[in-house]
Amino acid sequence: MTTADTTPAPENHTFEADVAKLLHLMVHSVYSDKDVFLRELISNAADACEKLRYEAISHPALLGDDPKARITLLIDADNRRLTIEDNGIGMSRDEMIEALGTIARSGTKAFMDRIQAAQGGEGAQLIGQFGVGFYSAFMVADRVDVVSRRAGSEEATIWSSDGKGSYTVAPVAVDEAPARGTRVILHLMEDATSYTERYRLERIVKEQSGHVPVPISLVEKPG
Ligand code: ADP
Ligand code: MG
Repeated sequence: MTTADTTPAPENHTFEADVAKLLHLMVHSVYSDKDVFLRELISNAADACEKLRYEAISHPALLGDDPKARITLLIDADNRRLTIEDNGIGMSRDEMIEALGTIARSGTKAFMDRIQAAQGGEGAQLIGQFGVGFYSAFMVADRVDVVSRRAGSEEATIWSSDGKGSYTVAPVAVDEAPARGTRVILHLMEDATSYTERYRLERIVKEQSGHVPVPISLVEKPG
């Protein structure tokens, strides 16, 4: 069996209207503290590790031979890419569509209500006040790929978007995905190149994610 014959083409999906609005706002925001994207993605990675730990209480096999939670930041300066990877619970295809294509969270709904009512520059402050979550990745990236494999699953999925109204999902070979968990690949905007500088990432992680209960390591792809 050759994968070329069997791999289905990526499916195109449209973001829920509120997500599209939120993304537009995020990308066009004058909000200057873009560093928060890293806090949000690391917090999601840590949440995923915590969910796995919890599920593994009743299903220890989910941990396989890799019981220790970890988060890795992979720097690829040559390709202007920053990857945030965890070995947490991961997401199935359907979970990705639900989690990354809709606004299920009450926090974001409240944020949207406030932002809709806000005048001009106030919107920028609101981004800082609320946790804006996954979508904040689009403040620094013009394409985001999410490759995920749910713990215990034989299937992996890639979600991809430029944050402009739609996204694609497609199956991906398991050897191109984490053995378990999620890899968020940020294709950084030209003016966000500094997020491939090790010292800068170290400082942001220390300032914003010092309390995260999962070890975070930084790896630089050799140039
Ligand atoms: P929140 O973390 O407040 O739920 P986010 O916008 O940060 O909202 O993330 C939305 C959802 O996407 C999460 O609730 C989770 O279901 C899913 N998600 C995001 N990142 C990951 C990850 N690294 N691993 C597993 N699920 C994730
Ligand atoms: Mg979050």
